[in-house]
Amino acid sequence: MRVAVVGAGPSGIYAAEHLAADYKVEVDVYDCLPVPFGLVRYGVAPDHYSIRSVRDKLSETFENPLVRFRGNVTIGRDISVEELQKHYDAIVFTYGASLDRALGIPGEDHPMSIAATSFVRWYTGHPDANDFGEMLSHASDVAVIGLGNVAVDVTRILVKPVSELEQTDIPQHVLDALSRSSVRRVHVVGRRGPEHATFTTKELKELGEISGVDVIVDPKDLPDHFTQVTESKIVARNLDVMAQWAKREAHADKSIQFHFYSAPKSMDLDHGVLSVDAMTRDSDGRLVASGIVKEIPSKMVIRSIGYRGEGLPGVPFDEESNVIPSTDSAVVGLPNSYVAGWIKRGPSGIIGTNKKDAVSCINTLVTRSSESSATSKQEIDQLLADRNIDIVDFAGWKKIDAHEKDLGKSRGRERTTVHGREELLRIGLGR
Ligand code: NAP
Repeated sequence: MRVAVVGAGPSGIYAAEHLAADYKVEVDVYDCLPVPFGLVRYGVAPDHYSIRSVRDKLSETFENPLVRFRGNVTIGRDISVEELQKHYDAIVFTYGASLDRALGIPGEDHPMSIAATSFVRWYTGHPDANDFGEMLSHASDVAVIGLGNVAVDVTRILVKPVSELEQTDIPQHVLDALSRSSVRRVHVVGRRGPEHATFTTKELKELGEISGVDVIVDPKDLPDHFTQVTESKIVARNLDVMAQWAKREAHADKSIQFHFYSAPKSMDLDHGVLSVDAMTRDSDGRLVASGIVKEIPSKMVIRSIGYRGEGLPGVPFDEESNVIPSTDSAVVGLPNSYVAGWIKRGPSGIIGTNKKDAVSCINTLVTRSSESSATSKQEIDQLLADRNIDIVDFAGWKKIDAHEKDLGKSRGRERTTVHGREELLRIGLGR
């Protein structure tokens, strides 16, 4: 049996591992980028070493001769899903959720209002990222909208001393831009209260450990008795962390200020203002606008309100929930096709969640699929070669890996991420 996996992030690699190691199935893992690892490379923050190091474990999957990395191939452009179906016995879609979401408020389309997805791409060195270095040099106050872990990552990177990022694999141009940044105050803006935030405590706590940065929480935003508002241990721990911050006196040069119960209403970034509705509870306990509008100083706004999946030509797509519809991981309406990860469940969970999900997807696949009319790997390789597609394989990734380590060493760092697509291709293809 031969299977194509679309997306070389954790879900795709876990799916390939399970297929090859446990069922001895041949797997080709496609990705539109010339490098593997998806959000482990282009989502996890550079200073989260232990999570980023998951890629060492993920790499081992490609050492299995049954698994091939096919980087720099865009499914739906270079080759259609219909063609993939002819060449493989089954397809597994694991291409994640890479789009951002909009707030739908006036002023949002200002150039200084950006999506966290774009900002994360920039600081992790994604080849298609915009450059935000210039913007940061003009923004003393930045508002980050959203109370999730991505908002925490973005906030930390905005204020962390560059000396503490030097040892990471952050791209050199990003490190240089951060050293020129004017950001002094980050305003974390949430439409609900601290007990509704989706931060995990370890990530939240890190904000209070950044040297030279105060964290400001208004004690009035915290419930008096945590146990009365939550049975969740995570929420109780988060509230405890914030309660400690609420007691601290602010005196540092830089700050992170939380603005809870503040629903974004409009932004006028030419005049450095984000307007928010102060929220209150109605008689039924629902959060509603109080009629009071607050102004938060913001030269730049980063909206961190979640990721969104996108459809792929030839594959059913649920436009409402932005996922590929499935039953037990089998794509509804497309034979021999399966789905795992964020494009199946939506953007939630940690890397480990995707392992479980990929394993259950592959268990369904092997139960339901049988060898059909798959062609040989030579035929699909020839088809792509005829279309002049330059495939970066795992040996190509290893060249990029070695190059990044050498580049890092030359600057006294362990690794420096290469970000240009052309450069990645030049190194990966050995040109
Ligand atoms: P998230 O946890 O879903 O948080 C999204 C935030 O956006 C929520 O606070 C939500 O508030 C807010 N929001 C949504 N629509 C809004 C609107 N119209 N106006 C104002 N606020 C709005 O998503 P995420 O932070 O993007 O994270 C995605 C996943 O990646 C999560 O599972 C996260 O844990 C994971 N992740 C993990 C790490 C880590 O472990 N270190 C790092 C990064 C990401 P409401 O609750 O009010 O809707």
